[in-house]
Order: sequence, then structure tokens, then C-alpha cells
Amino acid sequence: MKLKIASKILDANERIAQDNKRVFSSMGVYVINLMSSPGAGKTSLLEMTINELDGRLKAGVIEGDITGTDDAARINALGIPVVQINTGSACHLDANMINEVLGDLPLNDLDIVFIENVGNLVCPAEFNVGEDIKTMVLSLPEGDDKPLKYPLMFQESDVLIINKIDLKPFLGVSIEKIKSDALSLNPSIRIFEVSCKTGEGIDEWAKWLHSTLKA
Ligand code: MG
Ligand code: ZN
Repeated sequence: MKLKIASKILDANERIAQDNKRVFSSMGVYVINLMSSPGAGKTSLLEMTINELDGRLKAGVIEGDITGTDDAARINALGIPVVQINTGSACHLDANMINEVLGDLPLNDLDIVFIENVGNLVCPAEFNVGEDIKTMVLSLPEGDDKPLKYPLMFQESDVLIINKIDLKPFLGVSIEKIKSDALSLNPSIRIFEVSCKTGEGIDEWAKWLHSTLKA
């Protein structure tokens, strides 16, 4: 019985996600659902990416947090349109939350919208919100055991960004293990290694975004 209720919630979510996707694509906007555990560097990645894009792709951001507007303020400081969603107690964004803020971004003027999900490695992966792709960030201090412990996130993501690679000398963490375990769960996952501290690898990720949006 409980399973049935859960699947009904997911069905309803999926219908709204498809509605959102139709709105985004009718406006010519490519949408990335950005997910990670708290502190992995989603907002820092957005700041670095937006700077690297340097206006060549017009970006907007939807920030999802349980409470507060700190991340939206950081994006706003870059002169980028941003909407903050506070979920209250919900530990993920769902399609309805995104649907409610569609009118708050100048979608007609944008090429790409990043949706920064609530920091959580579990349920954000279960809820489509109308995105074109899911991208997850895993930072090295979280450890190389995460793909096998949180497989759904890695299975659902189209892109894995390994962040904080500048900390590698201080950690007994294997980037190769992260990559091989992620690829065993999801052979088509695209992997980038970056440091939002030093900027290493951001150019390759931004280049990939450009070529993906062109295609
Ligand atoms: Mg953040
Ligand atoms: Zn949740």
C-alpha cells in the first residue's frame, strides 16, 4: 500500500516535470538539474561556470535550499537572474516547486538554466523537475566509496563532476575508484575533474556545455 502511494506521487511529479520541460524547450532554454551532498561545491561550481561562460551563454539559476538566501545572493552578485526556492522541510526539489517559479525568470532571454537542488545524495535523484540533464557534484573529501553507497544518484546523472581535486595530496582518496565505480553503475556518465578553488578543469566543462547546447 505504501509503495502504491509513493508511485502515485512520482506519477504526479512526472506529469508536472513534463509540463515544465515543454515550457523550457518552447523558450529554447536548456536545463541542468545540479545535485550533490551539502558542501560539495554546487554554488561554487555555478559561480566558476558562469564566469567561464562570460555571457556567451545567457544563464539563469533556480536555487533550492531548505531555508535562507545565501546561495541566491552569491549568484545575484554575478548579475545573473536568480530565484530562490525555500523548501521549508523538504530535502529535495520537486517538479511543482519549479513550476511555481517558471514566471520568475526571463526565460525568453536565457539559453541555460541551472537548478541547484537541495544538498542531499538520496532523494533529489528520484524527482525529475523538467530538466534536460542531471549533473552531480562529488567532492573528494566525501570519499571514494560514495558511488557504491548512493548508486541511484550516479545511475540517474548524465554528468559527474569530481570537485576539490586540489585537495587530493591531503586525502587518501582514489579518483580512479570513483570513476570506475561510477562507470560500472552508469557506463554513459560523462566525468569531469575540477577544482573550484584553483579553476582547474572548469574550462573543459564549460567547453562541453557549449558544444552540448549547440548540438
Ligand atoms: Mg549551494
Ligand atoms: Zn527528499
